[in-house]
Amino acid sequence: MIPAAFDYERADSVEHAVELLGTHEEAKLLAGGHSLLPLMRLRLARPALIVDIDRLSDLDYMRETPDGVEIGALSRMAALAADPTLALRCPLLAHVCGVVGDPQVRHRATIGGSVAHGDPASDPPAALLAMDAEFVVRGPSGERVVPASEFFISVFETALHPQEVLTAIRVPAAAGARWNYQKFHRRAIDWAIVGVAAVVERDDGTIARARVGLANMGSTPLRASAVEQAAVGADAGRLAAAAEHAPEGTSPVSDTNASAEYRMELSKVLVRRALEQALGIT
Ligand code: FAD
Repeated sequence: MIPAAFDYERADSVEHAVELLGTHEEAKLLAGGHSLLPLMRLRLARPALIVDIDRLSDLDYMRETPDGVEIGALSRMAALAADPTLALRCPLLAHVCGVVGDPQVRHRATIGGSVAHGDPASDPPAALLAMDAEFVVRGPSGERVVPASEFFISVFETALHPQEVLTAIRVPAAAGARWNYQKFHRRAIDWAIVGVAAVVERDDGTIARARVGLANMGSTPLRASAVEQAAVGADAGRLAAAAEHAPEGTSPVSDTNASAEYRMELSKVLVRRALEQALGIT
């Protein structure tokens, strides 16, 4: 279908984008366009004004910080997946950016767009939640930093205010931690039926700390808190018992890909696999 008519402005800075967003109640930012444009074509989104930030090159960067990395919101998935520094500092995130869609999608889709879109089935938000990332946001009254745990509100709803731009993502490096991402889908290009991101710290063969993010198990990406608690002190033999807690606190939907019950069972299997593979047990 053809999108409903809209006005178009290209922002030449973040400040300009914030200003343009303030000129219309129904304004929307456009980054890579791979989520917004399909919604507009289906007329599920009808912004009156598109504010194009796609060419703001100062938001396209990845740099090391003393604590980890900072990634500009307009960084493309393909660039992040191939970034050697990200692979060293935050290998889970580099890997997850590489499993989004197909190469064509990854060359357009931005990490900021993925986060701001608020789709609970997306891969990067679940990983960023497991990594305790923070989101840097700029609006008319300046900058604020929102922890990932407070950012995702509901399906397609985030803590972003209408006139705010997500500018950067800060990810702490988890030195020595081991990681794994399990994405269960039918075809390579598909979204996850369920996704599981695990970050595990070890102490003498047992788990000292586990952080587990779930994709597509509710209206937002979720932390599997019950698994995280049950995994502390677990050795290889007790990972399956910890993984049994995966569905606690989740509320997955039933859709054409899977029922809610199927997703709950699947989450147990994927959490066990993610913990085992993070610990190097195959
Ligand atoms: P856009 O489409 O430009 O914007 C999305 C939303 O975010 C809009 O509401 C926009 O206003 C807002 N927005 C964008 N940037 C900002 C910003 N900086 N600040 C505030 N708001 C902003 N994703 C997965 O996770 N896994 C997959 O397997 C996957 N497969 C896909 C397959 C296909 C065929 C397609 C088309 C998409 C797929 N995606 C998948 C989604 C893809 O990753 C998203 O398009 C992308 O994450 C959104 O980024 P974008 O730059 O395209 O955002």
